[in-house]
Amino acid sequence: GSGGMAVTENEALAALHRVFGFDAFRGEQQAVIEHVIAGGDAVVLMPTGGGKSLCYQIPALVRPGTGVVVSPLIALMQDQVDALRALGVRAGFMNSTQDFEERRVVEAEFLAGELDLLYLAPERLRLNSTLDLLSRGKVSVFAIDEAHCVSQWGHDFRPDYLSLSLLGERWPDVPRIALTATATHATHREITERLAMPDARHFVASFDRPNIQYRIVPKADPRKQLLNFLREEHAGDAGIVYCLSRNSVDKTAEFLNRSGVEAVPYHAGLDAGTRAAHQSRFLREEGLVVVATIAFGMGIDKPDVRFVAHLDLPKSVEGYYQETGRAGRDGLPSTAWMAYGLNDVIQQRKLIQSGEGDEAFRRRAGQHLDAMLALCETVRCRRGQLLAYFGQDTPDPAGCGNCDTCLTPPETWDGTVAAQKVLSTVVRLQRERGQKFGAVQIVDILLGKRSAKVIQFDHDQLSVFGIGDDLEEGEWRGVVRQLLAQGLLAVEGDYGTLVLTEASGTVLRREREVPLRKEPKKPAPSRSGASG
Ligand code: ADP
Ligand code: ZN
Repeated sequence: GSGGMAVTENEALAALHRVFGFDAFRGEQQAVIEHVIAGGDAVVLMPTGGGKSLCYQIPALVRPGTGVVVSPLIALMQDQVDALRALGVRAGFMNSTQDFEERRVVEAEFLAGELDLLYLAPERLRLNSTLDLLSRGKVSVFAIDEAHCVSQWGHDFRPDYLSLSLLGERWPDVPRIALTATATHATHREITERLAMPDARHFVASFDRPNIQYRIVPKADPRKQLLNFLREEHAGDAGIVYCLSRNSVDKTAEFLNRSGVEAVPYHAGLDAGTRAAHQSRFLREEGLVVVATIAFGMGIDKPDVRFVAHLDLPKSVEGYYQETGRAGRDGLPSTAWMAYGLNDVIQQRKLIQSGEGDEAFRRRAGQHLDAMLALCETVRCRRGQLLAYFGQDTPDPAGCGNCDTCLTPPETWDGTVAAQKVLSTVVRLQRERGQKFGAVQIVDILLGKRSAKVIQFDHDQLSVFGIGDDLEEGEWRGVVRQLLAQGLLAVEGDYGTLVLTEASGTVLRREREVPLRKEPKKPAPSRSGASG
């Protein structure tokens, strides 16, 4: 402790100094903490790394009784509790990893009033035995961490979270604080409704992460592009590379190791021991790269992650924001880099169609993807687009100066005629031949390429054959990708065949123009001196 505390300092600030050794609160922390200490409910939206933990830890220390923290991150509870104990906080946890005796000790400590904080898994809190236990002791505050898990639409949905709505009925006098880093207005509303917190005060922090440079590059040879990016800008740095499938995680990790970049894989197909070992190496070592599926990263607190790279398109802007948000928690310059191409769009659209869930679920998933695609295709400031998605303004409306579109503004061109050529080809195939084909065949026809498959189907006889020799293959793929992204073209079935949408007609009938983003010939810029 720092000693010599002025008597006028309030208890919250005193705990911040004495227990955590920090000088001052950050952002909304103080307002949240004072509100909760006074007994109010709170919904806190703060980006990853924003400092959510203190928002409930300090009220738990200041109010009489034990702060009960509901968290889905069982794997991290031991670490969290150990870290708190090292600071002198009396913390414990109860989850399925413990045996009976360990649990009994924690229960006894709780009942004796010897715990400041008790971490619980949501499936445990639902049990009557747990609820009874809590009733027999004294709870100071309920903290519901990762509160977006209550949302059925997110990929982190936990049915057990739904039962948390009963906390308010059973303990009307105990304040509740729900925290999340993931929130659009819809999720926000769902949290309030499903946790039954109508009177909660809402605290919304800025989602801007000025030290993260956002870049999205056209995908050509993604692993090679990644390697160049790492060699040029992040040699020896710790970072996370996200891939969609376990198979591509393994292959990418192998590739990086072969290429002299030390990397470990992480996905749900590896056994628990390997996963834990790779995770703790990542936390401990300085320049290790983790190649992972999105199974990795929730709750990871490593301040010096210098880059997050995506080799595949995330399913939503929330996902993208959360994953990229793991970079640069220490506030130092970091990069969010992604390679994105036509196949990403086709693959994600196919996944939604063939995936489980009812019609409404698929429509929601489609909307999430559309927003993500709009972020990829934007010619405006990416940060501005990202913040606008979360309902927030960009600090500087002229652009942030620290994203690829600000650093090298992309050119646009009038793609109306090109779009008509693509759509006419799809129409001809369908009307004249009763056929549907994927992007490769459409582009070959436009280019007038006599590929084996073009010959096989006599597509060189179509009137549209070769009408697109004014653009190159990469440019045509870019046109198709952007038409898909804008909903002017759709993907159907397992083979990714292209079909028209209702909106296609407006282009074919020349009722609207189609401005497109020019495909950059060169890779995106390397890190410049610009700061956020
Ligand atoms: P979140 O849960 O929002 O992702 P954390 O609570 O893990 O964020 O906090 C992120 C990091 O910031 C942690 O290392 C934490 O110790 C640090 N931190 C939080 N609040 C403060 C503060 N007021 N002063 C200094 N460091 C802080
Ligand atoms: Zn920008």
